[in-house]
Amino acid sequence: MFTAQYIAKTDDSVIDLGKGNWLVSSKSNPGGWYQVKDLFDNLVCECPGYLNRYHCRHITGVVALQWMQRRAANPESGRQAVAEIQALSA
Ligand SMILES: [Zn+2]
Repeated sequence: MFTAQYIAKTDDSVIDLGKGNWLVSSKSNPGGWYQVKDLFDNLVCECPGYLNRYHCRHITGVVALQWMQRRAANPESGRQAVAEIQALSA
């Protein structure tokens, strides 16, 4: 299991459960978690925001975690990954 406070601007936590499943902490419901799944290469979330807009901060958190994992495997890509995460979080 890999857990990360993925970016200093937020206090969201992302837990990688493996096999395309993640848990992301809920900001509106402290102590709660939303489940994010990878369905055929699309990330989907169970939260109300995702159902309305097909995007939410939980998806952003999982994408950021994936970037972090990629950056750990390939340090040269780190600067670009940070810039992309900051653009998404702005
Ligand atoms: Zn969500």
